Amino acid sequence: MIIDRYSASLILVLSLFVGILDASAGDFDPVYRACVAECEKTGCVGERCFPHCKFLSDSVAAEGPWYMQEPLYLKWKQWDCQSDCRYNCMVDREKEREALGDGPVKYHGKWPFRRVFGIQEPASVVFSALNLAMHFHGWLSFFILLYYNLPLRQDKKAYYEFASLWHIYGLLSMNSWFWSAVFHSRDVDLTEKLDYSSAVALLGYSFILAILRSFNVRDEAARVMVAAPLLAFVTTHILYLNFYKLDYGWNMKVCLVMGVAQLLIWAIWAGMSKHPSRWKLWVVVFGGGLALLLEIYDFPPYHGFFDAHALWHATTVPLTCLWWSFVRDDAKFRTSNLLKKTKGL
Ligand SMILES: [Zn+2]
Repeated sequence: MIIDRYSASLILVLSLFVGILDASAGDFDPVYRACVAECEKTGCVGERCFPHCKFLSDSVAAEGPWYMQEPLYLKWKQWDCQSDCRYNCMVDREKEREALGDGPVKYHGKWPFRRVFGIQEPASVVFSALNLAMHFHGWLSFFILLYYNLPLRQDKKAYYEFASLWHIYGLLSMNSWFWSAVFHSRDVDLTEKLDYSSAVALLGYSFILAILRSFNVRDEAARVMVAAPLLAFVTTHILYLNFYKLDYGWNMKVCLVMGVAQLLIWAIWAGMSKHPSRWKLWVVVFGGGLALLLEIYDFPPYHGFFDAHALWHATTVPLTCLWWSFVRDDAKFRTSNLLKKTKGL
């Protein structure tokens, strides 16, 4: 009898726990759930009604199933309806909670953010755009330094052996921050996958780059040997996320391992090499490590705008500036070393 009661309560606790793990506290709330279900049926939350939901029910009733018409357009409408319903139910529920003296809770894995012109997380969008601008500025000044300021070889190529690797890095970074800005403006299945995929691609590539630069791998064949297995893994991981399962926990582990590994590689290299700009590496590694803590110690948005994730995007802006400055220094350093060698011969 005791065992029965024990196992029953254990199952109850476990099922509650699974329920909590499965959904955020906010969308677990029956009041919120009822509000969203009602809204998706009627297109209204209280006095506020949303044209997207109206459109959806009209078209389905009048012209047959939505996929028979322009599917992507109608799909967007459906997303708009769901998003409007969820947002307005969340705002109402959060007001009620505040009146009761309760703090904010997460909905569908996200804190309750205030929208600005329909943008879901304005602070994260602004910081993503700033990161994008920083990478563009950094890459452009690197390009100008290489091809206009530093001496070129007779075949008009740069002396710096890692030039093309950094060009690809610049492109992947800008791509990743572009999709980050899009994703934080409007969080739907498609934008989420594009953001995650480009972030994983950038992280994987910069991991390869960290190995190639710190071990000074200059031989083309050796570079391919190092890059191939990692590229294969990263590609498989991206395909897995997109076409099999968007597993947040597993993706977090993969990203954390690749991220920490490259920070360690740069840190050890900065400690061992006599690179003239190694202090910049130290700052970026420590800054990057501290910024990572913001991702781990998640806190709700201040005034509905600045949460841990937005601040994390903010900290990478100055770090990016310093990072490209290191890359430029590295290009100068390697070029002058190579020129000294050729003169010595
Ligand atoms: Zn983000």
